[in-house]
Amino acid sequence: MHYATIKNNDIANGPGVRVSLFVSGCTHRCPGCFNEEAWDFQYGEPFTQDTIDYILGLLAAPHIKGLTLLGGEPFEPQNQPEVVNLLRQVKETYPEKSVWAFSGYLFDQDILSGSLGAWEITDEFLSYLDVLVDGPFIAAKKDLTLRFRGSSNQRLIDVPASRKENKIVLWEDWQGNGRSIK
Ligand code: SF4
Repeated sequence: MHYATIKNNDIANGPGVRVSLFVSGCTHRCPGCFNEEAWDFQYGEPFTQDTIDYILGLLAAPHIKGLTLLGGEPFEPQNQPEVVNLLRQVKETYPEKSVWAFSGYLFDQDILSGSLGAWEITDEFLSYLDVLVDGPFIAAKKDLTLRFRGSSNQRLIDVPASRKENKIVLWEDWQGNGRSIK
């Protein structure tokens, strides 16, 4: 896998201050994509154990709430094994930090169908996720007022609750309302 960028103080892609990893490679080719250069799977730098160690170091800062995966497409079959290898180490080291991912694939129709490579890898990927923002960016549905989303078709999915209840459960920001944000 290759990656385009790592941001160490991202406040736009999930709650709190986060580390963000933009992986390379995406086959969706959404018109109006904000990140066309990352469609190429070879774009950017090789993703190595040194990269993982660097991310683990960034996550150590107490003000960092968690890690967000974007792209490119983290759920492309050729990207999933490396992403899972990263998340396994992140969760072992920082079980309390949240993990968000953005995908152009749909959670129910594409990801849960098991058609994106080996299901055991996809299943492990999902087991580490707190929130998935799913669906392609659709320029006609672009809405700058949406929090953590580019277009109104995209959903903020509470992955643990959805897997437990076997239906789509949307993530809600319960800040100050009894439940801590993820
Ligand atoms: S899924 Fe994301 S990175 Fe891929 S083409 Fe669509 S907007 Fe661009």
